[in-house]
This record gives sequence, structure tokens and C-alpha cells, in this order.
Amino acid sequence: MLEIKNLFVNYGHVKAVKGISFRLEKGEIVSILGSNGAGKTSTLMGIMNIVKSDREIYFKGENISKDKTTKLVKRGLILCPENRRIFPGLTVEENLKMGSFIRGDEKNNLEKVYNLFPILKNRKKQIAGSLSGGEQQMLAVGRALMGDPEVLMLDEPSLGLAPIIIDEIFNVLIELKKQGISILLVEQNAIKALKISNRAYILETGKIVHSGISKELLYDEKIKKAYLGR
Ligand code: ATP
Repeated sequence: MLEIKNLFVNYGHVKAVKGISFRLEKGEIVSILGSNGAGKTSTLMGIMNIVKSDREIYFKGENISKDKTTKLVKRGLILCPENRRIFPGLTVEENLKMGSFIRGDEKNNLEKVYNLFPILKNRKKQIAGSLSGGEQQMLAVGRALMGDPEVLMLDEPSLGLAPIIIDEIFNVLIELKKQGISILLVEQNAIKALKISNRAYILETGKIVHSGISKELLYDEKIKKAYLGR
């Protein structure tokens, strides 16, 4: 479905991502894990061509390495960015509508998003900046879904949220996977991410240091000690 080969992201002389390769199959959830500064955000920003990168990308067998961000979105590669990046002065529904600006049927998708996150329907006329952190994250995920993603990339959707809200959002991801959406999930919350993903890659200072089946990594003694804090 999506294959990334030799992705490099540099900021001047800072080498944030040092030639990583990975793949995502249709209907899979793949986690990219790692601590602060490991290069997770840069990986997503590099794929989406939001920051400059060297890479080869294949989507459904087609070489899309030279595609600009808008073209990638048109193809159905959609990012739900770190820190949500909602438009605080717009209403919930206006924020959602922004998500289908480039791709996606606005009316249909609004209904789908409201079914997944009923709280957003209740608050559709509310100014987005006044939502709770959890509701804002749901809005950010909802906005990404408005573009009908084939590949949904999420950058730390659990950041700063209460466990019950994280569960609610992760349950939606499981539902989306069932619908056939492929999900690339960047997380610092490794245990939660491993529990819902099929496979995972662990990044350290811009390199993949471990990869494998999520359930196996979850019970691997070395991984537990080094990355899962237990
Ligand atoms: P976090 O969880 O903190 O977001 P991360 O794993 O997503 O961490 P990145 O944000 O990709 O990591 O950062 C990787 C490295 O690149 C870090 O050393 C960071 O300081 C550096 N970096 C990130 N953005 C920039 C930038 N715009 N200019 C210079 N260096 C940057």
C-alpha cells in the first residue's frame, strides 16, 4: 500500500531522520514509536512533503516521491498533525469542513464523523478553541477523516489526554482499520500503540532500531525494559 525507502530529513546540519525504510499494508495499523526527538514527527512531515526530505515513496505501486503535499492529500494520504492544529476561532463544523477542501464528500463525511464522535455533533456550532483537549483531538481526527483518507497518519493523538479519552480515540482507530483505512500511528505512548497496532517500528535518533509484530514487541523482555518502562 505505502512503502517508504531511505527517508532522510535534515534541518540544516541537524540530521533528524537518517535513511529509514518501512511499509504499511492496506487495513493495517503500524506504529512508529520512540522518545522525544527520535524523529517521529519529522518522518510524517517528510512523507507529506511539509518539510524537505530525500526519499522514495510508493503508493499502491506508483512512485509518488516527487508529489507535493496537495497532490498527496488528493491521493488520500492525510495527516492529523501533532498538537491538533485546529482553527480555534472557527466552529467545530467549520473546522470539519476545512478537511474536505481538497478531497472528500463534505456532506457524507460530516455524517460519518458525527457518527464516530457524537460529541462533535452536539458541539457543532461551538467555537473550536473552547473545546476540551480531548474534544479538540477528536475534532482533529474528524477533520482528517473528512478527506476520506486511504492512509491516515496520526502524530501523537494521545498527547496530554486522560486515559478514558485515549481509549475512546484508539477505539475509533480500530473501527477505521475495520473499514479498511491504513493507519500510521506515531506515539510516545508505546504500550497503548502496541496494543492496537499490527506492526511497529522503534526509532532512536533518526534510525529504526527495532521492528516487528506489535504483540511480540509488547512481550519482548528487552523491549519492555528499554522502551515500555516495566
Ligand atoms: P517529539 O515527540 O518531541 O515531537 P519526535 O520524535 O517527533 O519528537 P522530531 O520532532 O521529528 O522528533 O525531531 C527530531 C530531531 O529534529 C530533534 O533533534 C529536533 O530537535 C530536531 N528538529 C525538529 N524540528 C526541527 C526544526 N524545525 N529545526 C531544527 N531542528 C529540528
